[in-house]
Amino acid sequence: MIIVPEREIAGLVSADACFAAVEQVFASMAKKSARNFPVVREAIGHADALYGFKSGFDRESLALGLKSGGFWPRNTERGLTNHQSTVFLFDADTGRCRAMVGGNLLTALRTAAASAVSIKHLARADSRVLGIVGAGHQSTFQLRAALDQRPFEKVVGWNLHPEKLGRLAAVAAEKGVPFEAVDLDRLGAEADVIITITSSFAPILRAAQVRPGTHLACMGTDTSGKQEVETALVARATVFTDEIAQAVTIGEAQHAVAKGLIGAGDIVEIGAVINGDHPGRAATREITLFDGTGVGLQDLAVASAAVDLALAGGVAVEVDF
Ligand code: NAD
Repeated sequence: MIIVPEREIAGLVSADACFAAVEQVFASMAKKSARNFPVVREAIGHADALYGFKSGFDRESLALGLKSGGFWPRNTERGLTNHQSTVFLFDADTGRCRAMVGGNLLTALRTAAASAVSIKHLARADSRVLGIVGAGHQSTFQLRAALDQRPFEKVVGWNLHPEKLGRLAAVAAEKGVPFEAVDLDRLGAEADVIITITSSFAPILRAAQVRPGTHLACMGTDTSGKQEVETALVARATVFTDEIAQAVTIGEAQHAVAKGLIGAGDIVEIGAVINGDHPGRAATREITLFDGTGVGLQDLAVASAAVDLALAGGVAVEVDF
């Protein structure tokens, strides 16, 4: 069995490698050659932790396995990350455990890759201003990956606590793009592409604040009850997602679906656009919205890439198991 420790991931797996892995698996999902299995997520009644599994199988890449982990809210007091993830990969021919891969950084990279894939396939080619709502842990990964998708000339950012926006300004500066902290009216009025990456349970961005032609990547809502944008905005947009079953239950679309404003049949899997089976954006003034819910197959795809890179780079730990 191969072990790729968490400490090796940063040196091994680039944002580009994650982008390629996530784009491939979204395409596989839309072709029905890859399938996510039902998610298990439980409050364990200890340490206030939420623990669970996301799993699946991609018949094209033969990635089979699961991501195990969850949220331990008091980890920060111990100097640890609150979100903890480990990916286990299995040999699709024999069922033997093939690899164990640290999944914390990979989770951030695969989430950022998902919104970047949506920008590549759905944002207007002339997009020049990137808006980002949220300045938490995930936000810098989101920003870095998005900036590679279009020749953005400016980043505008908003966060509930504006003092946290410095981390976004630093990434923009590193990429040579000016950054400005703005209110939500200006963010919507200026941005061609907007990423939302918060843990909000109430709409932040209103439909009236978003211009025709905008592409939104709503990445924060991954649980029942969370919400980042007004349902009227979801209803006005052409909605794309990683997986429809998750979008209507735990994604940003859940609220518009519950109100009857849209149905599952109105939502398109982004893999269909990648495969050329759906045209994607049809008009310059169309609002496109990617509901990125986060699927287990993304984790397996990037963990498989990490194993390949670790083997090639000679840093994989091999154990007899
Ligand atoms: P974090 O705790 O580091 O940051 C949370 C962010 O949400 C901060 O910017 C905070 O200001 C903002 N926020 C919280 N409540 C808010 C409110 N009521 N109104 C406006 N802003 C509010 O979290 P993170 O690690 O950056 O993750 C952000 C979100 O992304 C979480 O909801 C997380 O579950 C989700 N997530 C999604 C995926 C996916 O695949 N879609 C993957 C990982 C994380």
